[in-house]
Amino acid sequence: MLQELQEHLEWAFAQAEPLKHGKNAGYIPALAEVDPERFSACICTTSGEIIRVGEDNPFTLQSMSKPFLYAEALATFGIETVHQHVAVEPTGKPFDALIDVQSGSKRPHNPMINAGAIAIASLFAQGSERDQVRRLDHLFGRYLGRTPIQFNTRVYLNERDTAFGNRALAHLMNHFGMLGGSVEAALDFYFKACSLQLNCRDLSVMAATLANGGRHPLTGRRVLPGRYLRDTLTVQATCGLYDYSGRFWFDVGVPAKSGVSGGIFAVVPGKMGIAVYAPRLDENGNSVRGLSLLKSLSQKCRFHVFDHA
Ligand code: GLN
Repeated sequence: MLQELQEHLEWAFAQAEPLKHGKNAGYIPALAEVDPERFSACICTTSGEIIRVGEDNPFTLQSMSKPFLYAEALATFGIETVHQHVAVEPTGKPFDALIDVQSGSKRPHNPMINAGAIAIASLFAQGSERDQVRRLDHLFGRYLGRTPIQFNTRVYLNERDTAFGNRALAHLMNHFGMLGGSVEAALDFYFKACSLQLNCRDLSVMAATLANGGRHPLTGRRVLPGRYLRDTLTVQATCGLYDYSGRFWFDVGVPAKSGVSGGIFAVVPGKMGIAVYAPRLDENGNSVRGLSLLKSLSQKCRFHVFDHA
């Protein structure tokens, strides 16, 4: 079974490798400079077996941090409180859209877009900078199965210094009373979460924790209560790929999340977590090779949750 999965992964990788279109994210200099040919993928099964393909270079978590922030917010503050700050509706708009702020709804559409994630970050952004690093370490360390977590300082500084869109978004949200505390503290927490550095192996283990009912496949530790896991995967299923979420669900049919570094992780419930990394992005901000690999693999292995309906 594992041998067969390895063969399917290698086949899906080979299907995607010739794809050269798309571009690295250009608005964060440290991401623009990454070798666009980088390509790796890894699967971690719910019983902790790992298979991989390609050279596993490090990258940053970026928007793939958003489901974990949302899950942690649910577990820490409860569903009612969290949903006063963010809704769970897809936008059909790009990840950095200002639509939510213009809508006057007083809460962003969902926690998988920048506006929603900044609103969630603002719930956590209390206390000193050290407290915040400790909070991120505790949060992501449980999914990684090790601490301390590593940050890519250059990406963090780049985001802090050049993320004019996010800054504008946060200030507008604050103007409309959508943020709990300091704008700078919320942004800083958000930038730090985006700058967490890891590789496909790490990301596949994090995804496998979500596939495994919230229990870490290697440490055996329960990381997230089942109720919040269900909620998080639901929002990933409907909003995880921004304005491509509908088509992704149609083609691949499992909850996933992408980030502008070129990473995507997918969760095959009860079976495995899949991580893929290739920096060139399409017009929706999703990895071109990553989407291709996940589509091929899902069709080959019949991962779509309705394949067996
Ligand atoms: N740090 C990025 C940003 O805020 C994350 C966006 C993404 O990965 N889509 O712009």
